[in-house]
Amino acid sequence: MNTVEVKDLHKHFDGVHAIDGIDLATSEGEYLVLLGPSGCGKTTLLRTIAGLEEPTSGDVLIGGQVVTGLPPRARRIAMVFQSYALYPHKTVLANIVFPLKAARIPPEERERKARTAAGMLGIEHLLDRRPRQLSGGERQRVALARAIVRDPTVFLLDEPLSNLDAKLRASARDELKRFQQEIGTTTIYVTHDQSEAMGLGDRIAVMSQGRVRQVGEPVEIYDDPADTFVATFIGSPPMNLVPRGDVLVGFRPEHLLPVENVPGERVTATLEVQRMEYLSGDRHIYGTVDLGEGPCRVIARLPATVETPIEVGERHDFAVPAGRLRFFETASGNRTA
Ligand code: ATP
Repeated sequence: MNTVEVKDLHKHFDGVHAIDGIDLATSEGEYLVLLGPSGCGKTTLLRTIAGLEEPTSGDVLIGGQVVTGLPPRARRIAMVFQSYALYPHKTVLANIVFPLKAARIPPEERERKARTAAGMLGIEHLLDRRPRQLSGGERQRVALARAIVRDPTVFLLDEPLSNLDAKLRASARDELKRFQQEIGTTTIYVTHDQSEAMGLGDRIAVMSQGRVRQVGEPVEIYDDPADTFVATFIGSPPMNLVPRGDVLVGFRPEHLLPVENVPGERVTATLEVQRMEYLSGDRHIYGTVDLGEGPCRVIARLPATVETPIEVGERHDFAVPAGRLRFFETASGNRTA
């Protein structure tokens, strides 16, 4: 069993509730992503699971066993941080071997395990180099190799790709996913980058202010956000929220289209067009609609296949398919339907 579970977890730092009552459980071999804005408690949650922080209250279970209070080395977890924390004066091989040395594994076995790990990550040819002679992506692979040599049951990764440039980041992300599927280790991955979360996660836990707002598969989080925080944190541009009576009517920019492009049951509104942008072939149209509570800013995203001419300054009838509308209680922000 290589599951991770936290139960009613709290962590306070002199008055700051960094974790404010979290219940969360992975399934076996799952890739769970913790996603949320800066300061929401992601790193603290990961460090508490790793045993680097003691919870104020609540429990951490690994493989069904309570490990709260046990030191990190007794938890069979491997953690890779943003900075990789490689030893600069040691060679790549010495860096990878290091945790095995600390665990008193005999020298031949250490080297064999380190070479196997390096082989899995395609860095055998770099074993004699020092970290400063490596690219960012290569350093990341060394950090991963060092993390896997001990056959961890759980991988904890804290923004491991954040030091890479956009292109390398995309390929490292694919590599990481493939690698995780290959070895099947339960992984908890922290990021504040939603496209990374969407691409990597079997499930995503969206966090804000020390709490988990919603846990679900990427498509569920995107299509059925539990509240207005999730609705607007996920998606770029975010979900439109327009007041109507005592609810907020939510709809994604790609579902707001010129009325003639929306067959079937729909809700229509007149859009006052204020600004337009072309992005990756889509037209992003900024304007306002009024559902009875005064003008509200919205964004429509029209794919290239929608050719309706639209000019800045004009009023145009738009519509959203009825099945694409989501409703939230104005006061709490919680989903009502
Ligand atoms: P980021 O994405 O910026 O890394 P995060 O979601 O990982 O943020 P945490 O680092 O877990 O957030 O921090 C959560 C909250 O706890 C923040 O308000 C932070 O200032 C506070 N915090 C974290 N560690 C400590 C500490 N050692 N002492 C005091 N406050 C702390």
